[in-house]
Parts: sequence; C-alpha cells; structure tokens
Amino acid sequence: MSDNDGKKTLGVRGGPRAGNVKQSFSHGRTKNVVVETKRKRVVKPVTGANAAAGSAGKSKPLGDPSKRPAGISDAEMERRMKALQAAKARETEDAAERAAAEKEREAERQRRREEAEAKEREQREAEERAKAKADDEERLKRETEEAAKKAAVAAAQPDDEAPVRAAPTKTAPVPRKQEKERDQAPPRRNKGRGGDDGRRAGKLTLNQALSGGEGGRQKSMAAMKRKQERARQKAMGGNVEREKIVRDVQLPETIVVSELANRMAERVGDVVKAMMNNGMMVTQNESIDADTAELIIEEFGHRVVRVSDADVEDVIDQIDDLPEDLIPRPPVITIMGHVDHGKTSLLDAIRNAKVVAGEAGGITQHIGAYQVTTDNGQLLTFLDTPGHAAFTSMRARGAQVTDIVVLVVAADDAVMPQTIEAINHAKAAKVPMIVAINKVDLPAADPDKVRSDLLRHEVIVEAMSGEVQDVEVSAATGQGLDELLEAIALQAEILELKANPNRSAQGAVIEAQLDVGRGPVATVLVQKGTLRQGDIFVVGEQFGKVRALINDRGERVSEAGPSVPVEVLGLNGTPEAGDVLNVVDTEAQAREIADYRESAAKEKRAAAGAGTSLEQLLAQAKENESIAEMPIVVKTDVQGSAEAIVQAMEKIGNDEVRVRVLHSGVGAITESDIGLAEASGAPVFGFNVRANAPARNSANQKGVEIRYYSVIYDLVDDVKAAASGLLGAEIRENFIGYAKIKEVFKVTGVGKVAGCLVTEGVARRSAGVRLLRDDVVIHEGTLKTLKRFKDEVAEVQSGQECGMAFENYDDIRPGDVIEIFEREEFTRTLE
Ligand code: GDP
Repeated sequence: MSDNDGKKTLGVRGGPRAGNVKQSFSHGRTKNVVVETKRKRVVKPVTGANAAAGSAGKSKPLGDPSKRPAGISDAEMERRMKALQAAKARETEDAAERAAAEKEREAERQRRREEAEAKEREQREAEERAKAKADDEERLKRETEEAAKKAAVAAAQPDDEAPVRAAPTKTAPVPRKQEKERDQAPPRRNKGRGGDDGRRAGKLTLNQALSGGEGGRQKSMAAMKRKQERARQKAMGGNVEREKIVRDVQLPETIVVSELANRMAERVGDVVKAMMNNGMMVTQNESIDADTAELIIEEFGHRVVRVSDADVEDVIDQIDDLPEDLIPRPPVITIMGHVDHGKTSLLDAIRNAKVVAGEAGGITQHIGAYQVTTDNGQLLTFLDTPGHAAFTSMRARGAQVTDIVVLVVAADDAVMPQTIEAINHAKAAKVPMIVAINKVDLPAADPDKVRSDLLRHEVIVEAMSGEVQDVEVSAATGQGLDELLEAIALQAEILELKANPNRSAQGAVIEAQLDVGRGPVATVLVQKGTLRQGDIFVVGEQFGKVRALINDRGERVSEAGPSVPVEVLGLNGTPEAGDVLNVVDTEAQAREIADYRESAAKEKRAAAGAGTSLEQLLAQAKENESIAEMPIVVKTDVQGSAEAIVQAMEKIGNDEVRVRVLHSGVGAITESDIGLAEASGAPVFGFNVRANAPARNSANQKGVEIRYYSVIYDLVDDVKAAASGLLGAEIRENFIGYAKIKEVFKVTGVGKVAGCLVTEGVARRSAGVRLLRDDVVIHEGTLKTLKRFKDEVAEVQSGQECGMAFENYDDIRPGDVIEIFEREEFTRTLE
C-alpha cells in the first residue's frame, strides 16, 4: 500500500469504522481509526494470530453476519473476531512497514535536501547544531511514520473490514476495549507529532514508557530528558540553553552593550550578566571593544560578522533625493573680504535693516547665522561668521554650506591680500561671487578703481562687461543694501537651489560652544530634510537628542527645514564648526558612530603626535641641534578663538623653535586632552575654559601643565616667551586651592561678596583667582577681600568658610567655583 493511499484513507477512515463503533457506543466517536491501531497492540501478545490471519485475513464470512455459519456460539464468534482482527493488524503492520520504508526514504531525501540547504545558508553553522536539527527532523519523520502506520491501518480497513461494520452488538466487548485505549491514543500521537518542543505533559511520560521500545520514541525520550534538564537549570537560575536562532551579529570595532544585545536579540540584562561572569562590569550604555563583544556573542551561540569600522556610518541615510521631492530653498550667503573693509558692518546693516521692528532694538541673537526677507519676499540666509578661516575650515571638513559669496571691498581702499584670498576661496569652492563695493559714502571712495583692480584678479564685474554682479553699498548709510539683496536673490534664482525637506535632517555646524547653563550648543545650518525636536543625531564626534531648537531671533521652534539656521541644544559634547550633523534612528547608532569617529580621530592625532613630535623632533635634533619644537594643546570656549589662536601659534617661531598645535578644540579640557598632551610632552592651554575634575587629577598625576587665559594676546605672548626660552625654561603654575560659592551677599561699599567654603587647599589673599562656572572661566583676577568672619585674613584653610570679593568684578553666583592659584612661579619665565 502506498503512502498516498494511507493518507487518503486517513480522510475517510471514519467511514468503514463508523458503523462498528456506532452500534455499540456513542456515535460521536465513529471515525475512530485508532481503535484499529490499538487493537494491533492489544492483539500483539496473542500468539497464533498469525496463523489465523493467514487464512482469516480474507475470510469475510467470519465477520459477516449474513454469511455467518449458523450454530457458532457468541464466544466462538468473539474468538474468531479476535483472530480476524489480529490478522488485520498483521496485515496493516505489513502495509505500515512498506509505508514506513517509503517514509524512511522520503525522510532521508528530505533530510539531505534540508542539510544541503542549511549548509548553503549557514556555511559555518556549528556542526552540533546541524546535527541536532537533523535529529529533530529524523525524529519528526519517524513520528510521521507512526502516523503513517496508523494511516495505513485505517487504509487497510475499508477493503477488508466492511463486514465488520455490520457486526452485531456481540462484538461490543472489543470496541469497548478499543474505546478505552483510544482515549489514551490521541495524546500519544500528539506527542509523536509534537517532537520535543516541550508540549508534552507529565501524563505523556507514561505513554513514553509504554512505547519505549520503539526507536522514534527513544529519541523523544531523550528530548524529554533534555527538557527536564532545562527546566531544572531554569529552576536553579542557571543559564537556560534555549533552542534558538543563531544570528549573524554585525560587530564593529566598538559596540554599545545594549546595541550588542539588540543585535543578538538577547535580553540586555542577560548580556550584562554574561559580561559580569566574564569579569567585566559594564552598564548597558557603555561601549565595549570588538574582541570582548566577540567573546560574548560566541557565548550566546551566535556568529560574529566583523564589519569595518567605517561601516557604522552606513546607518546614516544616504538618500538620493528624487527631483520631484526637491523644493526651492533659500540661498546661504557668506560675506568675505579684507579686514576692515566692512564685513561685520555690512552684516549688521543688513540684519538691522531687515529684521522686524521690535527685534531690532531688542535682543539680537548671534547664533552664527540669520535669515532676512527681501522686499520681494525672498528669504536669504546669511552666515554671520565672517572670515576665511570659518569658510575654509568648514570646507576642509567637507561641509560646503555657502551658496553665494559676497566679496566686500572698501571703495576707499583697494584689492588687498585677504581680498585675493577670498577670491581664491570662492573660486576653489566654485561658489559664485557678488562684489559689494563698500564705504561708497566716503569722499575718498573710488568704486571704479576697485572694479579695475578686481579685473587684474580675474574677477570681471558686470560694469566691466563681465558676469560678476557688483553693487555699490554703504554699511554706514544703508545705501545700496536693497540692491545688494536683490542681486543676491537674482543669483540665487539662477542657481535654482533646492532641497528635500521631507527626509531625515542633515546639516552643518556653523558655530559651537560650551554655554554656561545650557551646556554644549551648536548652531546648525540645516541643509537637507527637516530637523525636529526629539531627533536623535550624530554630529562630528558628538551625538545627542534635540532638546530644543532656537532660531536666529531667539525663539524656540519645533523644527527647522533646509537653509534654516538653528541653535541645537541637547548635545553630549561640543562639536566643531564644519562638523556635519545627521539624524539617525537610535541613540545606540548615534553613540556608536560618535565613538567610532572619536577613536578614529584619536588614533589619527596619536599617530601624528608620535610621528612628528618624537621621531621628527629627534631626527631634527640630530640633523640640526638648534631646532626645537614646542607642541601644545589648545581648548577654547568658542571655535572662533580656537582658530585665532591656532593661526597666531603658526606664526610664532623662528629658526630655532617652532610651535606646533597638536590639537585644538572647543570645550572643557578633558582627560583625553591631557593624555594627548602627556604623550607629546605638551602643555595644555585653556582659553576661557577649565579642566574638568578628572582631567585636573590626571594632569596632576602625569605632570601635564595646564594654563588658562582669557586674552588671546596674553596666551600668544606667553607661548612666545616659553618658546624662546623653551630649551631651558620650566613653566609651572600652582593651584593652591578651590572654594565653592554657597551664598552671595551685597555689602555696601564693597559690592557683592561670596560666602564660600574652601573645598581644597588654601585660599590666599595675595593669590590669583578665577571664577569658574561649569568649567568655563568666567573671570580671572585678584581678590579685593578675603574675610574670615568679620576679619580680613591672609589665608583660609580647607574646610573653613570665608567671604571673598573680586577686584573689579561682581557677577558671582552660588554654585560657582573659585580657583586660587599662584602666579609667581611662571611670571619669572615670561620675559
Ligand atoms: P571687517 O573687519 O571687514 O568686519 O570691517 P568692519 O565691519 O569692522 O568695519 C571696519 C571699519 O569700517 C569700522 O570702523 C566701520 O565703522 C567702518 N565701516 C564699515 N562700513 C562702512 C561704510 O559703509 N562707510 C563708512 N564710512 N565706514 C564703514
């Protein structure tokens, strides 16, 4: 009998048996195939059944009442029936065996097919797992065979047992027994099909035991044991080995623990626990390196797929905006030109002329950029950071934010070096230029001289039949401003500037600073998409979630579209001008990208430091003993200061000594700055920023010098002095104490007095003091008074309270920190 027959029979098995059962028992149970199956078992022990089966197998008359020989007693009838059924059982067993053989072959084929598939899909699939799978399948097959056997039984019946259907009530005892057994049967069959997936109940164990002699059942038994073992382990709180999906876990150089858990589809708690078991105490928000993560991934039984570091950046949407998604956006304009030609004045004039009344007199927010509307209703975005450094440093970072350059040339002057520089920058960036000939109100103004001057530098203005628009303006009188704006609007029209506002935002940092009270703040010019409150982003080496957006008028806004400059709050650190901001989906991604960038930048710096500072210095020393290099690290409160300082530093130096800025950045001095400085034997210069506590400790330990300034010239002078005395000089500054302001009093005649607690060291009347608010230097100076109770004292020790007032300064607040330091140590070396 074929497999197929068996199946078909399964569907109709109730038919022939129905009568049989219905006659004696409840009609609801008429299609009971199991009856027969059970009977097989029941019959098994009956010896001699085979003999009976041999002849009785087809002796329908026996069961057929119509052909039943008269005079046969009920007992005899029953015996015969039994014999008949035994024969049937035997026969169906044979059929089942054939079906089983076929099933076996099919199972084998199936298994091979699946194995091949598994191999293909999961090349390095743990062999164990593959085996387990195969076992499972085999078991499944066997269990299917079981079912098939039963099916075969059913299949065998219709042909041969039709007479039985008509059996008289006398056959009742047999069905009753069958009925009884049948009640047990379904669970067993369920178990068979269910495999070892944990669906079996305790009661099944009995069935398991009953059928323990069969191969397939033994496997199920093993599975049962495994399940019990798992349950036991679970109860004991041990690691539960779950049957689970092996995942390919993308692993970058570093990964945040929660993200690792996410990629493995494991619980974060489990991962943290696993880390702990491996002796690593980490929280879910910490990053771990790839090697550590690999151990964990393997421990969880997943596969590691190492991805290149830079791949972490792939989550940043690289959307190619479709032309139909693009809508016009305002142009972004940068004003460039030689110093004193009136860039700042022009920016202010435009702004003041175009901002709505009410704001003009009120608070003007300098966020690094602003927007104005021309009389024709055209919106223009001006970058409020004149100077070429900003322009080039942004370009150097890959942020081309400017669409149009307005080149300011003073009409009473001529084309000057920085004018030429500006022309070159604009040309290099392929940004169209508009010439604003400024200061035309002055008697000495000679706009035509400017035009012809420009001609010599290949800038042919319209008045000279060229293509570059030129406008005569006066920032002082406001003359020509509208024409200038119209010229810009016209140029913008030609450029057909467009962007897709309906996508995740991308923008460029125009300015960034560590703001007292607000933390790190960045002015971002949105370039694509729309930046919204709540967006998660990565910007340079920093990341964050937009806590608030503030526009150029100081108003809070909920979103900013293309070409709109906004102040972004909610950063974890201060990015740098020119850094690109990208909105990403999750904080983990943002953190991962920022971490990656930070470590990449660190490596780069370290490599640069090691490569030049040490080796090069040595090589130079060998070649030319008179050349020395002074490496420094500079941290400032705003990007502009950093650039100015770096530029000034580059100019310091002569044949004997040179200053090299290893790193410059915005924000408090951190441990990583100290690390860098230590590696290169560099001092760290803080311009209006302070070292945070860990950095201070680290600096003390490593002997790294930190110096603070609030005037660029002082810093430059000091570096000059130090550089010229480099070979012999040792510069040192002593922090002698810290005090925390607890209260501020107003004292008549004295001004504001800070009620302080000296938290460290000593407060000395003669020492220098700095006022710190969130690690940013607010003021540096001397003390006007140092009081202990009512008395003026020379010193106050740590742990004591005192009153302090600054000379010429009284913006002091509770919570501020006063740093007390002695100057004399290094003033000695300044000459
Ligand atoms: P920047 O260095 O290019 O930013 O130039 P500023 O905007 O600081 O201007 C330099 C000097 O020129 C300032 O003293 C301004 O008052 C003056 N200035 C700027 N524009 C005009 C103008 O249109 N007319 C006159 N008379 N003076 C101007």
